[in-house]
Amino acid sequence: MIDEKIEPFYDEVVRRNPGHPEFHQAAREVLETLGPVLAKYPEFAEHKILERLCEPERQLIFRVAWQDDRGEVQINRGFRVEFNSALGPYKGGLRFHPSVNLGIMKFLGFEQVFKNSLTGMPIGGGKGGSNFDPKGRSDQEVMRFCQSFMTELHRHLGEHTDVPAGDTGVGTREIGYLFGQYKRITNRYESGVLTGKGLEWGGARVRTEATGYGTVFFAEEMLKARGEGLDGKHCLVSGSGNVAIYAIEKAQQLGATVIACSDSEGVVHDPDGVDVELLKQVKDVERARISEYAQRRNSARFLRGSNIWEIPCDVALPCATQNELTGADADKLIAGGCRTVAEGANMPTTREGVQAFLGAGVAFGPGKAANAGGVATSALEMQQNASRDRWTFEHTEDRLAEIMRDIHRLCAQTADEFGAPGNYVTGANIAGFLRVGRAMVAHGLI
Ligand code: NAP
Repeated sequence: MIDEKIEPFYDEVVRRNPGHPEFHQAAREVLETLGPVLAKYPEFAEHKILERLCEPERQLIFRVAWQDDRGEVQINRGFRVEFNSALGPYKGGLRFHPSVNLGIMKFLGFEQVFKNSLTGMPIGGGKGGSNFDPKGRSDQEVMRFCQSFMTELHRHLGEHTDVPAGDTGVGTREIGYLFGQYKRITNRYESGVLTGKGLEWGGARVRTEATGYGTVFFAEEMLKARGEGLDGKHCLVSGSGNVAIYAIEKAQQLGATVIACSDSEGVVHDPDGVDVELLKQVKDVERARISEYAQRRNSARFLRGSNIWEIPCDVALPCATQNELTGADADKLIAGGCRTVAEGANMPTTREGVQAFLGAGVAFGPGKAANAGGVATSALEMQQNASRDRWTFEHTEDRLAEIMRDIHRLCAQTADEFGAPGNYVTGANIAGFLRVGRAMVAHGLI
């Protein structure tokens, strides 16, 4: 329920952002939890911090024209939503996927503001991308698209201004082409302008693994708080992209068995435990579909068009996309014995799904806390770029694990303080809000 003082303001968010349901959903989920904060700290209402937080500082939309391999001209749309810079330069990934539109960018940028705040690092929030689909495109086509995209975007970026990273459809290959074009246009080797770079040219160790690993570290902390651990647990991990692959790897390193993963075409059920090296070979090296994985592994079956959440498990890690886990899915997971959910993706659980998990006492880690390890490690990459330093894998992974423990502790303590013990949604929203809100008050009316 939204506090009655906040309700009119939420209505205004809906009115001002017509046709952007994902943004409404993300804003509502945060606003629902902030009533007690406004009651305790009236200065936030006085300075209209909530209203200002829901309005991006800047929204860019631009044309991206490029030529495909047949010589045909293609036109896509590029976006960058620079949401909030109270805590540092805008920071957040670029997504290349046909579903990208301004509403999706706003929801992701809004979530990013709170997530980045929770990391405790000096980074503001933003998000960008394009409706370009890299799937099935040649390297040359992806390069030409990235060069055209950066030719417009570069004027808005800078290591102290706006620092994009990867997200769905944007990995090291795309970051390489984007970085190369930025360097060429500006005549500057500004390493800190993009994160997720290759290891030979300014990238940080563990950045590739960080979001998936961090999600698992967060799940492990939630389990520890209940006197348990991942060892011996059966897990589901949806998706088979960057976040999913490294969530599977870390969960299995910690003793869990990941019995299924998925893509948008279906589910791989592998009761012996997913062979993560084979999965990497199929997805990262060959850029093939997961049906190919099932063909090469005796213990696995590919279930085309099936729903991963119908498989009973102890722990569920949604790592694919927004709103992939509905209220009905949550009911099935609960009935199947699932007691722990950590979101590797951004807002993968619908509002009904979240309510079902919280109502059943499931330990539920929302994405803005559970998947913050990716952006936190991006901030570590920026630190290394600024000091021309290079850390070892072990040191960086230790830092990531420590950051995830701190985020878990902060969310749990804040939930306790505001009368919602065990509710990580409330804890994450309030803790994330307080740091940004205080900085905004300190900076005056801008
Ligand atoms: P990715 O590498 O592009 O992988 C996305 C995966 O999800 C693919 O396997 C894709 O399958 C699958 N997928 C998409 N829609 C699906 C659906 N409806 N059902 C089942 N599977 C589906 O992207 P990613 O970087 O892993 O990002 C995944 C999520 O994590 C996104 O929400 C992203 O915003 C979030 N996230 C990412 C990072 C990061 O560092 N990368 C950080 C924080 C949060 P297809 O190949 O069939 O499309």
